[in-house]
This record gives sequence, C-alpha cells and structure tokens, in this order.
Amino acid sequence: MTLPSPEFQNALRRPVLVEARHVSQAYHKDSAVDLQVLDDVNFSIHAGEIVGLLGRSGSGKSTLLRILAGLLSPTSGEVVWKDHPIEGPQSGIAMVFQSFALFPWMTVEENVALGLDAKGIQGQERDRLVENAINLIGLGGYENAWPKELSGGMQQRVGLARALVVQPDLLLMDEPFSALDVLTAENLRTDLVELWSEKKLPVQGMLVVTHNIEEAVLICDRIMIFSSNPGRIAHNLTVPFAHPRNREDLAFRQFVDQIYALMTQRAPIVSEADMAIGVKQSNSGTPAFMALPSVSITMMIGMMEALAAPPLNGRADLPMLAEKLQLELDDLFPLGESLELLRLAELEDGDIILTNEGVHFVLSDMDERKAIMGHALIHNVPLVKMIRNVLDERPTHSTSAERFRDEMGATMSPDYARQTLQTVVGWARFAELFDFDEEGDRFYLEEDNAE
Ligand code: ADP
Ligand code: MG
Repeated sequence: MTLPSPEFQNALRRPVLVEARHVSQAYHKDSAVDLQVLDDVNFSIHAGEIVGLLGRSGSGKSTLLRILAGLLSPTSGEVVWKDHPIEGPQSGIAMVFQSFALFPWMTVEENVALGLDAKGIQGQERDRLVENAINLIGLGGYENAWPKELSGGMQQRVGLARALVVQPDLLLMDEPFSALDVLTAENLRTDLVELWSEKKLPVQGMLVVTHNIEEAVLICDRIMIFSSNPGRIAHNLTVPFAHPRNREDLAFRQFVDQIYALMTQRAPIVSEADMAIGVKQSNSGTPAFMALPSVSITMMIGMMEALAAPPLNGRADLPMLAEKLQLELDDLFPLGESLELLRLAELEDGDIILTNEGVHFVLSDMDERKAIMGHALIHNVPLVKMIRNVLDERPTHSTSAERFRDEMGATMSPDYARQTLQTVVGWARFAELFDFDEEGDRFYLEEDNAE
C-alpha cells in the first residue's frame, strides 16, 4: 500500500517486545459448537511502536488483549514475552481498561499506587513514582480526590497513571477513549501522543485496541485490522504520517477511506463472533437462518433518504456518511449490511450505493414503500418467508414463535435467535406481512391480510 515510514523501519530493527504465535481461543457454549473467537493469530510488537488493533465489536479484541496481559490462557498457541511463554500477569505489561476500573473507595493517589503495592515498592520510592505518574498525565492537584468527584476524562487519566506508574515495557489499552465524549477523548489522545513523541512515557511500546478508524490512524504507527468470525489479522498496515497528524489532510482522509474499504470487503451481516455458529450450514434441507443485527426500519429509511438526497445522489463514501449521520462504525455497518441483504443498497470499496430498488423506495409514498419492503423481505430473508408461509397455511393464521426460536437455536445462540426475531418482527410489521403478539409469543396475520 505505502512504503514503510522511517520510524517503522527503525522499529523493525528494534527488539521484539511481545510475540503472539498461533494464538487461538474458543469459549465453550451450551450449544453443540464451541464459540471460536480467535483463530491462529500471529504478530509481534517491537519496541518503539504504537500498534493499533482495529476491529468490530465482538471480533475478539478484548479476548486477545487479556491473553497478552496474561489474564487468560489461550486454548492453543502462545504469547512469548522475554523469551518465555506468558503464564499469568507480568510486571512489565500494564493494561488500561475502557471502563477505567478505578476503586471508588480509594483516592486518586491510592488508585495510582496500586500497581506499586502489588510489586512491593514502598516508602519514598513509591511516593516519588506516584507523584511522577500523576504529574506526567496531568492529574497534579487531584491526588486526594475521589474517583466519583472526577469527570470521565480525569478518571481515565487515573487509569493511565496507574498503568504507567509501574513503568511497564508494554502498555495495552482496550478502547481507552470510547467511554469518553468526543472532545475529552480528543484531548486525552493528543496528550498521550504528545508524551509519546517527546519520549516522556515510561513505556517501550503500546497496543491500542479500538473500533474507531480515525482514532487508529491518529495514534498508531501500524494498524492491524482484525476480521471477525473468528478473529484473525486480516491486514497489517503501516501508517505513513508523522505526529502530530491532521485529520483534515487529504492524505489522512484517503488513508481512512482505504481502511473503510478494507473493512467492507466481504462483510458479514453480523459482526459478532457468535455468528461463527450462525453461518454453519444446516443439513436438514431448510435454509440456514442468518442472524440479523438489531436494525430498525426507521434507521434504514433515514439512511436511504440521506443517501438519496443531494449532494450524495445515491452514493456516499462511508466515513463521510458516518459523520453526516453522526453514527459510529459499529452502527453504520449493520445498517449498511441490512440494506445490502435486502438489496436496497450495495457496499463497494468503502462506498454505499443505493440500488434501483432503493431509489424507487425513497421516491415512493408510504403504501408503495411497504410493498417494496414486503417484496424485499420475502425474497431475501428466508425466515420471513417461512413464517409467512406457515401463517398462510394455518386456518387460525397464527403460530407460536417458540418453534422458530428453537429451529434457529440449531444454528445460532439463543441471544441471537431472540435478537433476530425481534428485528424480523420490526421489519415485517412495517411491510404489514405479519404481526407479533408479545404476550402470547405468537406470530399472526391481520384480518385483512389473511386470505
Ligand atoms: P471485542 O472486544 O472485539 O468486542 P470480545 O473479545 O469481548 O470482543 O468478545 C469476542 C466474542 O467472545 C464475543 O462473541 C463474546 O460474546 C465472546 N466472549 C467473550 N468473553 C467470553 C467468555 N468469558 N465466555 C464466553 N464467551 C465470551
Ligand atoms: Mg472489547
């Protein structure tokens, strides 16, 4: 894609900090199939680099981070740290959590000192290290505050100080800014990158997990793009920009675009790793049901209308559309994929394009829209067709939902079966294909719908 930056070439010459070798992880589920979350993950992190791990929700990022931190042993494979496979937490590896994970009954100072207590560092040495970490990260003056007295941004600074106080070689961060509002996240990100560039951070390398593409491109020297179902490193990209970076630069925007394009290739309808089970073909001759994300008709219509209107005129670059609709990647993908499933839009190289049917939908009145949606559902969502067929055949024009949940249970987890039915009911209601009685847990046809 691009030539490695000088920084990256240097990094390659620097020692390997940590190396994942053939790491796989499966969780045991009640169903017949185990949930394979990570599949043969291989990479190394060198001293001197910030590496980003970018992937959708449920792709196994946190699982991988916990394995690197020694909090979880992989089902197979190993993580090599200082020439040995990791078994349990290492003092040279520290972690920052999305949820800050502070102890509410401890002051800022006590929270920061926690890591040192665990290492048995006491007295003046402890005080000195704590003070350094607190000042470094901009918490000076807040030593005696309680976490609940602090804003989210300040709480995460405490999380960072607590990780940095032990002067770890490797800092792992799990979506460290995603619980913060946009401005606060931006400030913290900028501070962190500045400290890193000025070589003031007492760490040798960092791995930052995020599902935010711009964030990855703003921070990292290298980005590993994680695919889902199961989690695997699908792409490994060097970010060719020096710090500080400007997200308005054309080259920056193009790089973000390229990543969107990579992430929309052969996109599965649902991102969660649970879908490894969902895509399993059933042998019974009935179509394997596909799990559907939780996407409402209102969201789909909103997106199609925004897409159809000038200046987009039916085609938009996904990052731009995300910004316009104020959506996160995690919300945008299921939406785009649902429209693609219904053949109302197509995803192509990071763009979303309305199909003729999609344009027709937007230009139609309510009755016509319902008809178009009904047609799209019957033809593209086997579950809808099956429910409707059963309802048409029954003299009562009603049937229990339990039976469909059971059938879906063969190919997806109970949670997904429930979510999928909920989505299907929302879509089918709009199209007036059938309705659902929550109390009786039954699908049924409206009087004038039943023939
Ligand atoms: P991410 O951080 O990318 O959102 P996670 O690593 O948290 O992904 O989860 C990946 C998948 O593994 C999800 O489907 C999640 O439900 C499942 N999972 C995570 N932890 C466990 C666990 N302890 N037991 C069973 N399944 C789990
Ligand atoms: Mg996670």
